[in-house]
Amino acid sequence: MRDKQGRFVKGHIHTKEALKKIGKASKGRKPTPKQLQALKKMWGFYKGKKIPQITGDKHPAWKGDKASQSSIHSWVKRIMGTPNVCDFCGKISDNKVGMHWSNKDHKYKRDLNDWQRLCASCHKQYDYDNKLIQPKGFKPNIV
Ligand SMILES: [Zn+2]
Repeated sequence: MRDKQGRFVKGHIHTKEALKKIGKASKGRKPTPKQLQALKKMWGFYKGKKIPQITGDKHPAWKGDKASQSSIHSWVKRIMGTPNVCDFCGKISDNKVGMHWSNKDHKYKRDLNDWQRLCASCHKQYDYDNKLIQPKGFKPNIV
């Protein structure tokens, strides 16, 4: 809003008429107590849970605590940095793209010996060979 001199005026004063209109309009959108209860229930259900589409893998073997998995992943990355070489095939990635920290048994222990540096294809192969993942729809746990 600007005044007659064209200066910017802070805030916006509603006329009584406008306020009435707004009140009426929002009244219609207000959920009933029943709906509110349902909404609260839903909120409680989703609270603290990640949306499946975002977390990705729905394979049963991945039912472990995703939050702790990713926090362990970032812990390894913080201490060891992003890998630039693959422990399996020796591939070197100068820009560190496609290099992952792979947890050997997917138990995500806070043990650095339990982690290996793998390129994307070895990571996939390793997890597949060790039956840690299913090949179909596999998305490596990248950090
Ligand atoms: Zn490799």
